[in-house]
Amino acid sequence: MHELSIAAAVVDTAARTARTHGATTVEAVRLRIGELAGVVPDALRFSFELAADGTALAGAELIIDDVPALAACDGCGTEFAVGCPPHLWCPVCDRPADRLLAGRELEVTEVRLPDAASCPAARASPTGPAGAGRGEDL
Ligand SMILES: [Zn+2]
Repeated sequence: MHELSIAAAVVDTAARTARTHGATTVEAVRLRIGELAGVVPDALRFSFELAADGTALAGAELIIDDVPALAACDGCGTEFAVGCPPHLWCPVCDRPADRLLAGRELEVTEVRLPDAASCPAARASPTGPAGAGRGEDL
């Protein structure tokens, strides 16, 4: 289950951020998830609860900001919603779009700690390399 490994990476990233700030719990984690990232939000919420259990993230709220997929046509300059399933076709010129502007995001944008001000997490992708430096934060 793909969402479970993403959830585990998110928990890992947020727990590391909490440790860096001397916090033992996390109140909430905010994610940006593109429409085309291939993540099912409900499945991710469920997986997040499983992954968070027994960690500093236990009971933390998972906030998901959906990012609509947006494509651009260089021919006419139109930017249009791609929709899901994606339709990468310029509605004006009737030809394929040139660029995907948004929709593949998958990132932790905020880790909310109990008494400190919220701090933006490192812009690390939850799918990037993780866990290599466990215990070496200082
Ligand atoms: Zn066009």
